[in-house]
Amino acid sequence: MTNKLKYFIGNWKMFGDFTSIKIINKVNIFAKRLKKVNKKNKIIFCIPYTLLHIFSSKLNNNLIILGAQNCHEQSGHGAFTGSVSSSMLRKSGAKYVILGHSENRKSGETNSQIKKKIESALEEKLNVIFCIGESLQDKKKGKTFFVLRKQIRDSISKKFKLNKIIIAYEPIWSIGTGKIPKSKDLRKTFNFIKTNFKSNFKTKKFPIVLYGGSVNDKNIKMFSFISEIDGFLIGGASQSSKKFIDIIKNYYK
Ligand code: PEP
Repeated sequence: MTNKLKYFIGNWKMFGDFTSIKIINKVNIFAKRLKKVNKKNKIIFCIPYTLLHIFSSKLNNNLIILGAQNCHEQSGHGAFTGSVSSSMLRKSGAKYVILGHSENRKSGETNSQIKKKIESALEEKLNVIFCIGESLQDKKKGKTFFVLRKQIRDSISKKFKLNKIIIAYEPIWSIGTGKIPKSKDLRKTFNFIKTNFKSNFKTKKFPIVLYGGSVNDKNIKMFSFISEIDGFLIGGASQSSKKFIDIIKNYYK
């Protein structure tokens, strides 16, 4: 159930301009040092659409991989003002895309829409970071597993290339709030997600499952003791190279 390879994925949200490449450059210097000491990890930054092409052209031979934060469900092109398709992302240098983030679900994105987005991203050979998570109300009512099961079942098809999908468990009540789940709850939830996914889709391996929600350099050590967690989706703290590097350093301390 435990994967040795650990993921540290930054979600910049609505942040960054052309000068923000310096954040990624600093993390890249750190990543090179980490590689020398044989730590197996993947560092990915999911950045705004506006920065993808310019950053990817400047990041040759870089250890940092770029991703996007959403895409439209329609492949190719079409009359969808303000939207970006998965093929546009791929052509701009993205290798990953975050889909189903609760901030987008909040503005009306549904499970069936997310399913079409996942399909379109996989067709473009993008890796998908599929976000799931319960609200505080769901948690209080004891409905966490019910919600997670439904989000997975309604957004993923057996026909998808399942090994290209990474799940990010992000309790909504934890995003940007400084609140994090108890470690015994996290263990239970990660076990649930992994076993549910494996048995539902009859995969040979357990899926990669990340945790996201208020991860910082202080609380990361607690997460590092939970071996079922394969990595982290880091929002606010990924907008600073120091904070992001300190999270990784403290994880391995
Ligand atoms: C996120 O937006 O995916 C996230 C985890 O945010 P934060 O780390 O700021 O809680």
